[in-house]
Amino acid sequence: MREPEHLRAVQRFVRNELLGHETELDTRAEMPLPLYSRFAETGLMNWWLPKEQGGLGFTLEDGVRIVNALSYGDAGVAFTLFIPVLTTSMVTLYGDDELRSRFLDPLMAGNGYAATLGSEHAAGSELARIATTARRDGDELVLDGAKAYSTDSDFAQFLVVVARSAESPDDYLAVVVPRDTPGITVDKRWEMVGLRSSATYQVSLSGVRVPAANALRGHGLRLLEVGLNASRILIATTAVGISRRARDLCLEYARTKQVKGAPLISNAVFAGRLAQIEMQIEVMTNQCLAAAREYDAIMARPDAAEEFLRQGTMKAAMTTKMFCGQTGWQVVSAASEMFGGLGYTYEMPVQKLLRDVRYVSIVEGGDDVLRELLFARHVVPVSKRA
Ligand SMILES: Cc1cc2nc3c(=O)[nH]c(=O)nc-3n(C[C@H](O)[C@H](O)[C@H](O)COP(=O)(O)OP(=O)(O)OC[C@H]3O[C@@H](n4cnc5c(N)ncnc54)[C@H](O)[C@@H]3O)c2cc1C
Repeated sequence: MREPEHLRAVQRFVRNELLGHETELDTRAEMPLPLYSRFAETGLMNWWLPKEQGGLGFTLEDGVRIVNALSYGDAGVAFTLFIPVLTTSMVTLYGDDELRSRFLDPLMAGNGYAATLGSEHAAGSELARIATTARRDGDELVLDGAKAYSTDSDFAQFLVVVARSAESPDDYLAVVVPRDTPGITVDKRWEMVGLRSSATYQVSLSGVRVPAANALRGHGLRLLEVGLNASRILIATTAVGISRRARDLCLEYARTKQVKGAPLISNAVFAGRLAQIEMQIEVMTNQCLAAAREYDAIMARPDAAEEFLRQGTMKAAMTTKMFCGQTGWQVVSAASEMFGGLGYTYEMPVQKLLRDVRYVSIVEGGDDVLRELLFARHVVPVSKRA
């Protein structure tokens, strides 16, 4: 079956801008790289934004196919382009009409970026311990605090900041903040091990004032949980693209490498290893698509915002990210071994894949944290839950 035009446009972008450009993509060049504006020329920036906001209204299943194609070329590029979905899905579901049109319409029109400021150093994954505060002052909210990691935030149009209410510390807010609001300082860009074509920053907030109406409707930490569903499924998907690339690099190498007087590609041990990888890619792909369809089915409901809140972290989003993080790591590790000593050098792109795939099991909840959540919410019978 012929692929839809938008997917062919993504594949052309991958061929023209990413494949063969690994060295440039793996340096810490100024962001956003010029290639991002060339992606915008495809018309696909923020492909998931709803049609009501002038967006394309693509489903998460479409997103899985796009991210799979992009991350075959470069996972950092894929991550930069899709991570705003975390921010915008909170605004789409829990912002009122005015907030949605004030922030999402210009985002779509301007091919812009949006970023989420959740994580803090001291709190770690225990987000209930975050120290950033939102203080009410008349018709305004005043934000103060320090956020440890935030991807795309330096060049974003707007941010969603998760903060604790200064007046009532058990309450949390998710607040939409224009990036150019006074008081926002980007302290540094992290030197990351992988995904080096993306940029993640440490940001501080000092007396940042926004209208109180910029707070999204609902408990900030719960809204963040909902937002993470889509991005966790797409993070998992990058492991699929990376694994497909690793497989193809192995095939390419095995055509030229001689073992016992014959090309490696005709060796039974090699064939067995590649078949194992193919099985892992197939199952990861299907899992990402299934999780995305589950998400899309909720998104299509008239009560999507309430249903997402009822479910919180979707079981499928957690398990898909965990499974793909672990499986992608196994695939790329096996692939790097296939190059012998060369696989451990910077001469071979497989080393970049190894660094890139590592993030899947770390970002948006490490496996220990997700295992704990999975156990508490889905292993322990409902009747025995605390
Ligand atoms: C490239 C990148 C991009 C990022 N982008 C963003 C972003 O845009 N916005 C944002 O808000 N954040 C972002 N983050 C933060 C990211 O989501 C967190 O780093 C990640 O969730 C891990 O949390 P942590 O760093 O607080 O580590 P911690 O959770 O503190 O983990 C440290 C250690 O403690 C252990 N641990 C923690 N909790 C438990 C537990 N309950 N049981 C057992 N062990 C536990 C972990 O397993 C680990 O060994 C980004 C991070 C990176 C690396």
